[in-house]
Amino acid sequence: MSLRRALLALSAPGGVALLAWWMARSEAASPFRHASWAPEAPYLVLGIVALLAFCFHRINLVYVAGVLAGTCAAVGFLVPEAPRVLPLLVALVPWNLVLFMADNPPSLRTASGWLRPGVLALQAAILVGLARPALWIEYSGGFDAPPADLALALGRSLLPAGWPGVSPAVVAWGLAGAVALIRLLVRPDPFRAAILVSLLAVAGGVLDREVPGASSWYFCGAGLALGAALVQHSYNLAYRDELTGLPGRRALMEALGRLRGRYVLAMLDVDHFKNFNDTHGHDVGDQVLRLVASRVRRASGSGQPFRYGGEEFTLVFPGKSLEDVMETLEEVRRAVEETPMVLRGPDRPRQKPSTRGGRSRDGRKKVTLTISIGAATPNAAARTPDQVLKNADQALYRAKQQGRNRVCAAG
Ligand code: GH3
Ligand code: MG
Ligand code: MG
Repeated sequence: MSLRRALLALSAPGGVALLAWWMARSEAASPFRHASWAPEAPYLVLGIVALLAFCFHRINLVYVAGVLAGTCAAVGFLVPEAPRVLPLLVALVPWNLVLFMADNPPSLRTASGWLRPGVLALQAAILVGLARPALWIEYSGGFDAPPADLALALGRSLLPAGWPGVSPAVVAWGLAGAVALIRLLVRPDPFRAAILVSLLAVAGGVLDREVPGASSWYFCGAGLALGAALVQHSYNLAYRDELTGLPGRRALMEALGRLRGRYVLAMLDVDHFKNFNDTHGHDVGDQVLRLVASRVRRASGSGQPFRYGGEEFTLVFPGKSLEDVMETLEEVRRAVEETPMVLRGPDRPRQKPSTRGGRSRDGRKKVTLTISIGAATPNAAARTPDQVLKNADQALYRAKQQGRNRVCAAG
């Protein structure tokens, strides 16, 4: 679980949703709520998002946008004439978002691909049937209309009179929110964050009936949160290294372009990593690279870490001199050296064994890795970041030649 990464994933969708919430509630935004185009705005936003999601092959988000647009329409057209559908909306919509739309669905070319549209159509039919029984009777071919008692029971408070109204619908919504939050914490990504934000926005759009015209802005907020997640996802694809989560080579090149005046660049390289891969396999090598990256990130102080490529990392220290950073670099080197990497075999037991040490009975093995570091700063012969990086690379080469697991400074 990573709270930091979950908050990072929430930043873009949460930010735009907050703006929409302000539009829905603030006195200053009142003209926007009463604008003639306001009721149609959510459909436009959600339509654009659905189109973008389709282009990005995020078909689950196309469904999410569709469900949000459908809910917005139900709130606008069905609820005023039949408020009894409200509890059903509150209970059903979040579960659709959390379970049904968390991952990309199977293609519509397969039979199972039709499950999702089928279940959605059924839910829409039940909602319409509840709101307008006459319509249901006309088109259902003799089926009884959905029982209105069911919707009423969903909306009835579970607590005695005088207590806050906690109905089964509200409980269902809360449980779906908890599932969305847990999913986000277990594997933080912008889409899971956007679904959690949409869930909150739906609650606002369905239940906040105090301010006229507010509902549209909640649904706009949900749509914009999905859009922001798509943008954040493409940013991550371009600038983040997928394996380690660190900023990647492209981000490094842009950071180098912004450097002015004093700075230090350090190149870090894992020692004998080829041997490690050959002994333990590439997958274990990947796990270990992730661990090394997290140690580097934690110990790098004011340095900005990047994955340069392969088993090489770069630290950028803007505004620093070599003397300022030598201690930090030494700490980074030590942090990696002192981290035992626990390699677990595929036959590992579910429970952590209590044994410690080099190799335990279940085949878990602890190994240690070391890194070498070369650092450089601009001088008369190396004025541009590219030249400084080359000098850092040469210093790294010297660190390797002198026996590895050490820090060398250029010049
Ligand atoms: P030295 O101490 O001189 O740096 O030796 P080395 O073996 O680390 O150096 P070399 O550059 O020859 O080997 C780097 C190895 O890193 C080669 C490749 O197998 C491995 N490697 C590069 N990228 C990845 C990756 O993404 N995952 C894994 N598992 N291995 C990688
Ligand atoms: Mg290398
Ligand atoms: Mg190496």
